[in-house]
Parts: sequence; structure tokens; C-alpha cells
Amino acid sequence: MALIVQKYGGTSVGDVDRIKNVAERVQETYEAGNEVVVVVSARSGVTNDLISRAKALNSTPDEREMDRLLTAGEQETIALTTMALHSLGIPAVSRTGSEAGILTDPNHTRARIKEISGGDLKEQLAAGKVVILAGFQGHSESGEVTTLGRGGSDLSAIAIAAALKADLCQIFTDVDGVYTADPRVVSKAKKLQYISYEEMLELASSGSKVMQNRAVEFAQKYNVNFEVRSSFNRNPGTIVKEEVKSMEDVVVSGVALDNKQAKVVVSNLPDQPGAAATLFQSLANADVSVDMIVQNIGREGKANMTFTVARDDVVRAEKAVQSAFSDVGTGTEFESSEIAIVSIVGVGMRTHSGVAATLFDALANTGINIQLVSTSEIKISVGIHPESAEDATRLIHSAFGLDTV
Ligand code: ASP
Ligand code: MG
Repeated sequence: MALIVQKYGGTSVGDVDRIKNVAERVQETYEAGNEVVVVVSARSGVTNDLISRAKALNSTPDEREMDRLLTAGEQETIALTTMALHSLGIPAVSRTGSEAGILTDPNHTRARIKEISGGDLKEQLAAGKVVILAGFQGHSESGEVTTLGRGGSDLSAIAIAAALKADLCQIFTDVDGVYTADPRVVSKAKKLQYISYEEMLELASSGSKVMQNRAVEFAQKYNVNFEVRSSFNRNPGTIVKEEVKSMEDVVVSGVALDNKQAKVVVSNLPDQPGAAATLFQSLANADVSVDMIVQNIGREGKANMTFTVARDDVVRAEKAVQSAFSDVGTGTEFESSEIAIVSIVGVGMRTHSGVAATLFDALANTGINIQLVSTSEIKISVGIHPESAEDATRLIHSAFGLDTV
């Protein structure tokens, strides 16, 4: 007998037929003799719908009330899923986040988990019940309902698996697992059998997001191995776990494409200490996150700074830059253009050389111009024209031997 945590996301519980499908999968796991905790999200679209209703009534809704509102989405699915299991003759009981003792800090809409007591979960499991737990929610010390940030049901699942020392944690979603590239772009993309936490995090931040990042970080911190797999078929998924030596034999595990970025060039900055600090502080205050940064050599007491931001943030970025330098009188200029960022990720880069050369060669041979480059220990990203982005992704995928894995 094993203790298994299964998490089903919004599309997996999207309507009554899908909830029935989830109940049947849970039934199978339960009847195989396991203890099962099922974490569910709100039906897909429900959380967004609740947010837009709130915004229609108040452009800056109170965050406590927001949490009260949004937790209703998961509350619906725990009750429906439990009812579906009862119909199949399976003893099941639902629990909210606070009933399961998921204690968080008091920061509404983005609370962090402090501790998990588990409430009466162990007793319910010992009594032969399946426990259906509401994802995304917890409670603060003072008993207020809190939420864990968008996509937070993933975190609930990983955290409860850690707290209960589950034998297995499965994240059921609408994709088969983690792929070497987006299969919609690269037809030869392959599903990975294993991936390390770190690679998963880098791929997500580079445009291949399968799960909430905080959940993966939490799993890494508490070493919770988990499987990402589809609730719509029986294919085995991808196991996410700590890095092991054999993972280093593979130089590149995946290629990610983020086609929603913009390149910003700020020119005529005062070339003096503090200018960059002023610029990026102003961007940070406007809640704009900056990715790649290149500073060009200053000429005639002026400097240029090039960086990338999400395309949706360009307007806010421009305002922030203008306001930061309006009183300096240097005639600072702001220019933006669309850019695509293609990244290769792999823990094997730590021990292999020539990775950047292979990447640049592949692009050069087909005349794709690189506008920006950034690297980390396990990732190399290039900024290129969006027009060539998909071709570049396919090319790079094959240059690193991923077509034939
Ligand atoms: N329902 C929440 C959201 O949409 C949490 C989740 O789905 O994981 O963000
Ligand atoms: Mg979700």
C-alpha cells in the first residue's frame, strides 16, 4: 500500500464528464489498495471569470475579499469530485485548505506556506477514505482564508505530498509531460522520461511552462519527486527529480521559445555611476521585469542600454524610463521592437564545452542574425527576429541531436 497524492488541474475537471473521468481514475488508484489524496483546481476559466466580475465592480478589489471570492472556485470542485466518487461507491470526503491545516503568512492573493499540520487527513485515510483537498488555498494565523498565487494548486499538491511524506505525487494536466520542445512548433519533439528541478525551472522561465514555478521550487527544496502526466490518456509522464550524474550525459534537455518578448533600447543615458540603478529601479517600481541586459560603450558622456521585457509591459516600461530621466535633461530616448528568445537548457552544459559554438553555428549556417545573448550555468538564450523564431527552434533542436533521442 502506498500513499499517493494526485493533482488534477482546471482542464482535467473542466466539466461534469471530466470530473467523472477523474473520479474513475481515482477509483482505480484506490481499488489497487492505495491511500489517495486528490488535490483539485477550479474548473478551467472559473478563476479568471471570478476575477473579471470583481474588476467589473471595483478596479482595485480588496485582497481579503478577493481570496474569499477565488477560493469558491476550488470549493466547487472538491464537492463535485467527492459526489462523483460517492456515486462510484468510493468513501470520500472533501477538505478545504484550512481544514487540512495549510498555514500561510497573511499576504492575501500571494500567501506563502509556513507549515502544514494536515488536519485530520491521516485519520481519514486510515479510515479508508479518499480525501479530496481544495488546491490554491490556506489560512493565516488569524484564521483568514488565503490563496497561494495563480496556479497555486500545483503548490498545494507538492506541499501536501511533502507534509504527508507521500510515496508518489502525480500532477495530472492537459499535456503528456515535459517535452524537448513545444510539439506544436517542433514536430520531432520528444517527451522526456526524466528532468531535473533546475532544468524544469529554466524551461518554464524561458517560455515552456507546464506548472507553477513556486511549486517546482518547493519540490526542489523538500526533494519531492513528482510525475507530470495527462489526465486524458494513459501515457506515462515525465518524472521531475533531483539531478543525477547520468543527466549530465545529455548536453541539452530542451529548447524553449518565448515569442512574446520585446527588445528595448534606451539611448543617451548619462554615462555615470547611478544611471543604471536609476533606470532599473524605476522599471522595478513599475513592476516591469527585465531579462537580458546589455550596456553599450558610452560615447561623448552618453551610454546606451539594451534589455528585454515582456511585450505586454512595453508601455509601462516606456513610462517608467521617461519619468526616471525627465529631469536629467540628457534627451534619453526609448525604442522598442519585437523579439523572440530561444533558449537551450541542460545540466550537461556544466561539463561539456562548445555548446555555445554549436548553437551559434546552427544559426549562422541559415543566416539567422543574433541580436542578444545571455547565459547561465545551465542555459543559453539568444534574441532573434520573431520571423525566424520557429525555424530557429527546429534547427537548434536538431543541431543538439534532440530529433532522434
Ligand atoms: N484556480 C487557481 C488559478 O486558476 C489555482 C490553480 O488553478 O492552480 O490560478
Ligand atoms: Mg491551474
